[in-house]
Amino acid sequence: MTSRTVTRRPVTRARITALMSRLAGDESHTAAATSTLDVLHVLYGRILRVTPTSIDDPDRDRFYLSKGHGPMAYYAVLAAHGFFPEEHLDTFGAFESVLGLHPDHLLVPGVEISSGSLGHGLPLAVGAAHALRIRDSSARVIVLVGDAELDEGSCAEAIEYAAAAKLENLTLVVVDNISSSYTVHGRIEQRLRANGWRADRVDGRDQRLLEEALARRVPGTPNAVVAQVEKKSAQVENKSEAA
Ligand SMILES: [Mg+2]
Repeated sequence: MTSRTVTRRPVTRARITALMSRLAGDESHTAAATSTLDVLHVLYGRILRVTPTSIDDPDRDRFYLSKGHGPMAYYAVLAAHGFFPEEHLDTFGAFESVLGLHPDHLLVPGVEISSGSLGHGLPLAVGAAHALRIRDSSARVIVLVGDAELDEGSCAEAIEYAAAAKLENLTLVVVDNISSSYTVHGRIEQRLRANGWRADRVDGRDQRLLEEALARRVPGTPNAVVAQVEKKSAQVENKSEAA
């Protein structure tokens, strides 16, 4: 797949938000859903070398949504790019729907891992990146986690190992909505750099900056992009008031 051109559908951000509006239920418009929107839009529109016709290609790029709660933007982006029929969106969360509140890789075309239990995606991505390198594949592995998810011990081990193993085919995207228990501004990228990663913080709503940072491959070290988005608290307060 390396030498082939990836043909993607032209998809606008407005198209994705329109598709998101078809997702019904209490979970449809949470902060978790919209915080990832621009990152996912850039990844599937400009970065990932994977299309609906190459989801089984051993050399496809892998995207792992580790932060599996709030998958609405993810589903909308996949539908917009043709991985599954848009009509599936109307069934979101229903008993017999393939689109559950957490993505299921056995049910949803294009979904690489089932996720929702936090702290698993990064270790899985590290293993996949290692395996792809052993196979001499040019594929990249890009994993998206939340900022609070990095409090999980499994992430600490994966961060250390990825740098030690020089996994330059691995990219970690941290969507930072300032929701971790002990937030210290800048700590995420400093922690990654201290472990040997290339890590930069960018505006998580600036698609040009996101594309530039996500396209980067750094020789000899994994790459991390901390995407800063709006603070989570407002939406959480609204949700509790409604409950
Ligand atoms: Mg968060």
